[in-house]
Amino acid sequence: EEKHSLSFVEQLVEEDLAAGKNGGRIQTRFPPEPNGYLHIGHAKAICMDFGVAENYGGVCNLRFDDTNPSKENTEYVENILNDIKWLGFKWGHIYYASDYFDKLWDFAIWMIKNGNAYVDEQTSEQIAQQKGTPTEPGTPSPYRDRPVEENLRLFNQMNTPEAVEGSMVLRAKLDMANPNMHFRDPIMYRIIQTPHHRTGTKWHCYPMYDFAHGQSDYFEGVTHSICTLEFVPHRPLYNKFIDFLKEMDGTAKDGLDDNRPRQIEFNRLNLTYTVMSKRKLHTLVDEHLVNGWDDPRMPTLCGMRRRGYSPESIRNFIRSIGYTKFDALNDVALLEAAVRDDLNKRATRVSAVLDPVKLVITNYPDGKSEEMTAINNPEDETAGTHTITFTKNLWIERADFMEDAPKKFFRMTPGKEVRLKNAYIVKCTGCTKDANGNITEIQAEYDPESRSGMPGANRRVKGTLHWVSADNCMKAEVREYDRLFNVENPSADDRDFRELLNPDSLKIHENCYVENYLSSVKPGQYLQFQRIGYFMMDPDSTAEHLVFNKTVGLKDSWNK
Ligand code: ATP
Ligand code: MG
Ligand code: MG
Repeated sequence: EEKHSLSFVEQLVEEDLAAGKNGGRIQTRFPPEPNGYLHIGHAKAICMDFGVAENYGGVCNLRFDDTNPSKENTEYVENILNDIKWLGFKWGHIYYASDYFDKLWDFAIWMIKNGNAYVDEQTSEQIAQQKGTPTEPGTPSPYRDRPVEENLRLFNQMNTPEAVEGSMVLRAKLDMANPNMHFRDPIMYRIIQTPHHRTGTKWHCYPMYDFAHGQSDYFEGVTHSICTLEFVPHRPLYNKFIDFLKEMDGTAKDGLDDNRPRQIEFNRLNLTYTVMSKRKLHTLVDEHLVNGWDDPRMPTLCGMRRRGYSPESIRNFIRSIGYTKFDALNDVALLEAAVRDDLNKRATRVSAVLDPVKLVITNYPDGKSEEMTAINNPEDETAGTHTITFTKNLWIERADFMEDAPKKFFRMTPGKEVRLKNAYIVKCTGCTKDANGNITEIQAEYDPESRSGMPGANRRVKGTLHWVSADNCMKAEVREYDRLFNVENPSADDRDFRELLNPDSLKIHENCYVENYLSSVKPGQYLQFQRIGYFMMDPDSTAEHLVFNKTVGLKDSWNK
């Protein structure tokens, strides 16, 4: 892998190491909420969390932030694990925030007993109204000063099957005038009666993010808790709850103030022409605006995998955009360039004709066939070769023929020579049309001395065309994808994001022909359809009906 300059995150980590913090130990975590599939934004966080651990001899654990049972399930857990493995990372432990529900409960009880938490029976609307503004203090809840015993009784009541969702919350008693809004008596627990995918019906109230995340980091011994910029204003509260925890466990004054996770924030990944909010991705799937989470148009890792992106190209892209303190919108063309770059090195070159028209080599013997050698990858000698069958009847691309061609048309036109890749030089002699003037067949004569590898093949011919033998090929469906959205930044648009979808984001070519070699490939194998682009077999493919996804074209066709 290429050397790269340190990001500001790694610089901070190195400062901590130099200062002797945590005894030189490095421990990070990637904390997905199992309420959806991972997308390329998550990949940016994964590369950082795992990258820091790898670079400094530490460990990165996974922690499922499963504190909201109403949106989470094990299907998401399984897929998240699979996607992280696919990206090429190895975790230490797998933890769940739900492993800490007992500890967090005890901590909450301690907070109540110390007069630092209270049960509020107001509605969430009332609580929101009392928050105040950053410049005006909030209004204290009428329940703020209720006695400890009453708080303990009500908090226990919150954790019963009878508790009504929304009827009570536990709040930290902090500072209703603090300029940081997160200090204005943040909610610690709320009632949720949906069974949890791991703890079942043991719990009826669950900790909020702010009362679970930092504490979980602390319990696990995380040294650097790396997250995205929207958590900057949460950081003082993150630290405050850890202060309380250290007070509770008696390590508050341990001199070095060691054993304390440090939260560091970087900019989220936003990509042009897509959305990354899980709520919106859920909508796309639930309303069948795409064909599932792994639709190749989705920004999900499973979608990109199905489309044919390599994990290496995603990691290279993330390295190239880097980590900063400013949110930005990254051009998806950069990702596609990274995909092209990587696939060029690993894709097997094959022949496929997406919009076929018949080409007959009139002077080639009927019934004859020859096995031609096709190099699998000119970028990689070790990739070897395969054979492709040449016969009298071929398919070529309709766009590769013009009856009256301009001078610069170096493809097939009557009277001119072109090379058929890996085969012969042929000279077009004419074409046949139907009653409507559509071309139904093209004729050419081949030069028997010009077979690839023979001296006669060295003659200068401007154009080289790809082809497939009509007598030795398979039919295939090819799915071609365009931008999922018509606008660069759908998230910044006032209109409903559904109205911004590109209605032509999926184009299906039903009548393609591919060389027989493709019957032996599998989804997961990187392919280049020569002169067209990079492709991957789709899992919908069967022996009778081959299906391929276009990963990306050979050249960027959007920024011409
Ligand atoms: P949403 O807010 O859409 O529900 P999320 O960010 O809450 O998504 P999580 O599963 O909680 O999703 O995210 C796990 C980790 O991935 C978090 O640390 C989060 O900061 C990080 N992450 C999520 N989206 C991005 C992104 N677009 N760029 C970088 N990191 C991201
Ligand atoms: Mg989250
Ligand atoms: Mg979120």
